[in-house]
Amino acid sequence: MRKKVIAGNWKMHKTIPEGVRLAKSIVSKMEKKPPAKTEVQIFPPYISISAISQVVKGSKVGLGAQNMAWEEQGALTGEISPTMIKSAGGKYVLIGHSERRAYFKEDASMINKKIKLALKNKLKVIHCVGETLEEREQNLTRDIVLNQIEWDLKDLKAEHMRNLVIAYEPVWAIGTGKTATPAQAQEIHAFLRDAVDAVIAEGVGKKTRILYGGSVKPENAEGLLSQPDIDGALVGGACLEAGSFWKIVQAAEKVSK
Ligand code: PEP
Repeated sequence: MRKKVIAGNWKMHKTIPEGVRLAKSIVSKMEKKPPAKTEVQIFPPYISISAISQVVKGSKVGLGAQNMAWEEQGALTGEISPTMIKSAGGKYVLIGHSERRAYFKEDASMINKKIKLALKNKLKVIHCVGETLEEREQNLTRDIVLNQIEWDLKDLKAEHMRNLVIAYEPVWAIGTGKTATPAQAQEIHAFLRDAVDAVIAEGVGKKTRILYGGSVKPENAEGLLSQPDIDGALVGGACLEAGSFWKIVQAAEKVSK
């Protein structure tokens, strides 16, 4: 069974005290009504991870980083290594978010190195893929995501996939208020399972958790999360407030078998 995951990507929002407050609210909601069928993860900015790790300690809230360097250590000014994330209390890492690809020019070889290094250091990975609006309009969605699976996950084996979750995030839906319809998202999620089978090994696709991301809100969460191949959501804007994030967690609980 693929347990649902609701992950909140805080992006560059919240100071340390604001982040601690938000994390406390999420932990308190978890404690009042622990979700039985849904994993909850939060990805604050690096600078808050250590403080927030004290808040989530002993709770079921998973904590991770939004990015990571492709080397263990070295002359990489401004970067953060996997051991640093772990020493701050992070257990997860987002890799290949479209904002990293677009604004920081992360390419497939860099993403591939980051994924391998994260897994080697026992961090669990959320690997993001997705097409731009231009690519969708040119009917290239399948080619783009297949290419991302092929090159970003190069050399990975079935056992690595146990610690990796894929997030399908159409770039045109991120932060825009435009969501893929449940049918559009379902179609690509099903395709991604086949892509994982083709690239990694037959049978791995159906075991891999695949989240949807792109303007997921309390209002559209249930429709998306009830699709058979959508195993959760990577949430940006709607995770910055505990109430709306929690409604998405509840939607996941409601539709989980
Ligand atoms: C994201 O950043 O991964 C994301 C999906 O953002 P939003 O929910 O704001 O579209």
